Amino acid sequence: MSQAQLMDGAGLARRILDDTARRAARLKVRTGVAPCLATVLVGEDPASVTYVRMKRNRSGKAGIESRHLALPAGITTAELVAELTTLSDDPAVHGILLQHPMAPHIDERAAFEAIAPAKDVDGVTLSSYAAMSFGLPGFVSCTPGGIMRLLDAYDVDPAGKRAVVVGRSAILGRPVGMLLLGRDATVTYCHSRTTALPSVVREADIVVAAVGRPRLIRGEDIKPGAVVIDAGYNAGNVGDVDFDTAVTRAGLITPVPGGVGPMTIAVLLEQTVTSAERALGVRARP
Ligand code: NAP
Repeated sequence: MSQAQLMDGAGLARRILDDTARRAARLKVRTGVAPCLATVLVGEDPASVTYVRMKRNRSGKAGIESRHLALPAGITTAELVAELTTLSDDPAVHGILLQHPMAPHIDERAAFEAIAPAKDVDGVTLSSYAAMSFGLPGFVSCTPGGIMRLLDAYDVDPAGKRAVVVGRSAILGRPVGMLLLGRDATVTYCHSRTTALPSVVREADIVVAAVGRPRLIRGEDIKPGAVVIDAGYNAGNVGDVDFDTAVTRAGLITPVPGGVGPMTIAVLLEQTVTSAERALGVRARP
């Protein structure tokens, strides 16, 4: 039985982070200023606290300063918008990450829109989304951007390929479909109302699973030789794809963990350094 080649997201993320650290160091030498990522956390949801801590630790290792704003769970949308506006106006801050999801009383869209697009290194504003959808310059959503980097690293050209994206969330499914469309794939979105999901998946040259349902995509539905990107991350380190059966049919496949997961922070920090380089007028490459 054939075995797919594994797409090593952990290794690629390390290389991106090494390059990001080199660029951050070069920027500091040239301008005396280190890139700075502001992380904003509302409340104390344990998972969000952990995610923000991880992002700050990684920032430090890459030579990116982080400024952390821990805001009370009861903060109003107007107060949060004011905090984000202050960060947007602060020239010492190059990137802003507003950890989400937030409490239901917060108008999440209003909060995101208070982030200046030039500092939207997490790609959450409408401006960033529109730019990404139209192929214009701007910051991409980090996990979708990471998925595209993985495809590029393994020489997968989406042009002309049939791509099936399972999931349509604002941070993952929808934007990755737009990025694939921008690279000339023929894109089909599937979601909870899709009927006969397996028959759609069977036509895919590239499958992106972005659902959050363990092993929803079965190996028997993978077209032989297809590229399988599993963005799902479920309890017990299980993806949205049934890896053991899919690996015998796919040409390339991301493992869980170690595939898509590590790419998100790598793209976030890379975009933070890019933002700082632009703000300080330093070209990305010498
Ligand atoms: P989400 O907001 O819950 O969206 C899930 C999507 O899956 C929705 O569009 C939903 O359809 C669709 N869906 C649900 N059940 C389905 C079914 N039976 N068949 C087909 N589609 C179905 O989740 P998310 O934030 O996009 O995250 C998805 C997964 O990716 C999660 O496991 C999450 O942990 C993981 N993730 C990983 C990273 C990373 O690796 N760095 C980053 C983000 C997310 P409707 O729109 O119709 O409801």
